[in-house]
Amino acid sequence: MLNAGLGGWPARRAAMSPDRTAFVFRDRATTYAEVFDRTTRLAGQLRAAGVRKGDRVAYLGQNHPAFVETMFATHMLGGIFVPLNFRLAAPEIDHLLAHSGATVLVHAPGHAFGRAVRTVVALGPDYEDWLDAGDPTPIDVPVGLDDAACVLYTSGTTGRPKGATLTHGNLIWNCYNLLVGVDVAADEVTLVSAPLFHVAALNQCLLPTFLKGGCSVIMPSWSVDACFDLIAERRVTWMFGVTTMFAALARSPRWAGADLSSVRCLMAGGAAVPPALIHTYQERGLTFCQGYGLTETAPGATFLEAGESERKAGSAGVPVFFTNVRCVRPDLTDTSPGEPGEVIIQGPNVTPGYWNDPDATARAFSEGRWFHSGDIAYVDADGHFHIVDRVKDMYISGGENVYPAEVEAAAYEHPAVAEVAVIGVPDATWGEVGRAFVITTPGRELTIGELRAFLAERLARYKLPVYLDIVDDLPRTGSNKIQKSRLRDTLGRA
Ligand code: ATP
Ligand code: MG
Repeated sequence: MLNAGLGGWPARRAAMSPDRTAFVFRDRATTYAEVFDRTTRLAGQLRAAGVRKGDRVAYLGQNHPAFVETMFATHMLGGIFVPLNFRLAAPEIDHLLAHSGATVLVHAPGHAFGRAVRTVVALGPDYEDWLDAGDPTPIDVPVGLDDAACVLYTSGTTGRPKGATLTHGNLIWNCYNLLVGVDVAADEVTLVSAPLFHVAALNQCLLPTFLKGGCSVIMPSWSVDACFDLIAERRVTWMFGVTTMFAALARSPRWAGADLSSVRCLMAGGAAVPPALIHTYQERGLTFCQGYGLTETAPGATFLEAGESERKAGSAGVPVFFTNVRCVRPDLTDTSPGEPGEVIIQGPNVTPGYWNDPDATARAFSEGRWFHSGDIAYVDADGHFHIVDRVKDMYISGGENVYPAEVEAAAYEHPAVAEVAVIGVPDATWGEVGRAFVITTPGRELTIGELRAFLAERLARYKLPVYLDIVDDLPRTGSNKIQKSRLRDTLGRA
């Protein structure tokens, strides 16, 4: 086979495990042989639509097997797959379509976009007819590991999403890195609960499971109830989620009675994982590991084994196997144990750069192709990384640096706190002070006095929030992360 990239995977898997189930979506199961047949036909149609090596094919819609089919079909032709965040507004979608230069768009009905893309296919009957009429002859074009596979837009937590180019090699090396840490097996039943346009759902869950010949249970969209239902019905063994998802499960009235007996391992990442949350899961006997990573690193950079999560609570673990991770001062020398610095990452999973954005690419790398994460961490005496916060979320109160993630982790220990986000807001005396936004546990109340008294036993005085807002919900990205930039822009201006 000439195709060394992901485009070769359906054929290779169909040869190895044709009858095993690749995907479950609602009531429909798709075998590996069917995935190969369907993606081959789809690739035939994309080729007829003019897609050649290096061309971009976009996908807009909730999680669906068609997402994966469109991706593999694009990769069969050496094309570049561009999944879009379906929660964006039409002008934002148009911006990403224009920025990526997509010539084909496969989309779920109901999503608004205005830009004229050459070929547009709607999911449903149109998509199925299109696919049925496709040429079933396998396509094999030369694709190398250094060829671009995807443009994945970052979550947009700190500003406008950036399009990280990921090569086939980047994606595959991340799968290897993950498989060294998590024993994804051929009989794995992986719940794909996070949105697939986000790197974690795609490359920590679906692709490693596909590589091993396991089954991915694809959730169309995230909901606590559907998650509990699917885990029990499908006997889910492994699931990745961002912190907010695990927090939502744990505060659900169904938590106590939920059947989680099939689950072998859970993995959290994408944002700080408070130790109190990890304990909630461990108290139920669940294996809970943590990963730290970014879209730009496809995504895994460090990993904390489940067995370490008690001894090393609060740590994001050690560098993944094939990747170098350092914590450095502004002059790029390594920090001492316990000293905060910026996380920089180098390795075969690191993006070659941002799509069509040489300036942002130049800013993100230093000598030796070290990628600058924008995250602050410290390394402890055992070499374990502790992610402190994002550089952009830190604020300064009375001349002292405050890392909101530290304040949040302490606040999570309060029984009335179900979810919390802290930001710095302007203050005439101190420069900035903390403002906490809290979703309370059902039936509990909280005042700023109580919160401050509770935190005062755990944190220095200058870190205590001065304002408290009890809220029903928080602004979130499409990948379910709390968007502090939006909190700052809107609510934060008190
Ligand atoms: P944008 O770059 O558009 O602002 P984003 O950084 O949230 O959005 P992602 O690539 O999805 O986009 O997320 C990577 C970021 O998530 C990391 O830079 C880090 O801040 C955070 N993160 C990921 N895993 C962890 C973790 N285990 N602990 C703390 N933070 C984490
Ligand atoms: Mg980022």
